[in-house]
Amino acid sequence: MTRAPHPLVTELAKRTRDRDLTDKAVAKVLEVSAKSVSNWRHGKASPPMGALLGWSALVEAAMEAVDRDGRVVLRDDELVEDLRSLRRARGWSQEELAERRHVSKSSVISKIEADARGTALATYLAHIAVLDVRLRLVANPPSKPHPMGGPTLSMPKGGACTRTAVDMMPAAGDEQAEDEAREVCLNCTVFVACLSWARTVPEQDDPGGVLAAMTLAERQPTGIRTCSVCEKTKPMAEYAWADDNRRARRAECRACVRVRARALQIATVKKKRATERAAAEQVAA
Ligand code: SF4
Ligand SMILES: [Zn+2]
Repeated sequence: MTRAPHPLVTELAKRTRDRDLTDKAVAKVLEVSAKSVSNWRHGKASPPMGALLGWSALVEAAMEAVDRDGRVVLRDDELVEDLRSLRRARGWSQEELAERRHVSKSSVISKIEADARGTALATYLAHIAVLDVRLRLVANPPSKPHPMGGPTLSMPKGGACTRTAVDMMPAAGDEQAEDEAREVCLNCTVFVACLSWARTVPEQDDPGGVLAAMTLAERQPTGIRTCSVCEKTKPMAEYAWADDNRRARRAECRACVRVRARALQIATVKKKRATERAAAEQVAA
């Protein structure tokens, strides 16, 4: 049955659109089908909590649970891993909570409390509502980008970098910041998968920053890259930095950038002349 999607899903969909991400791109990161993402967006299905957390991280937001007074009681992974703390804070047993939620078996409660990643948002909300808690979405501070915001979307999902407040894209040479980012990776549950991914990710798709505890320089020991335009393999120095903080290099070589800039310049001049000619003809007529 179709109903209006939950406001949290609507907000996630909006943030997804604002970042020009397609259902397919979101689906790839969350390892679900694009159809599922479309169904969530249209209110045809309720997304599982695990997917919702990953989706929030992808659009630079985080989910948190707040009590009646607006105090944050759970955030990020705690939302799915530590639900029992809410019940315990009230001094209720699983049986008592099952009764209040009008579910027949306390096994339903124990399953959700064990790990709510697979629990649908609608069920999850019903669960926490009994505990007088609600969910909200908060934007991550923009100064803390993480590798998932980079141009590649094929990283292993569930990485600690998607939830941490640590800057995973430290400026090159800032050793203290790099070490802090490495520490996040070393405690990450998908570190091994990420390590094999980071070693094979094409250089032009590398989002920059610290990945699998390695800096850009460390994981690109050959220091060469194939230009996305002329497809020639050139040393890294032939690629300009993508931003002022030198977090990543561009996929297009400097020579191709120059050619494109020149072509753009010529096209702009031509357009300007055509407009001037048209204006002059109009005046003459
Ligand atoms: S190992 Fe590091 S970069 Fe890779 S997913 Fe985990 S935290 Fe992110
Ligand atoms: Zn090129």
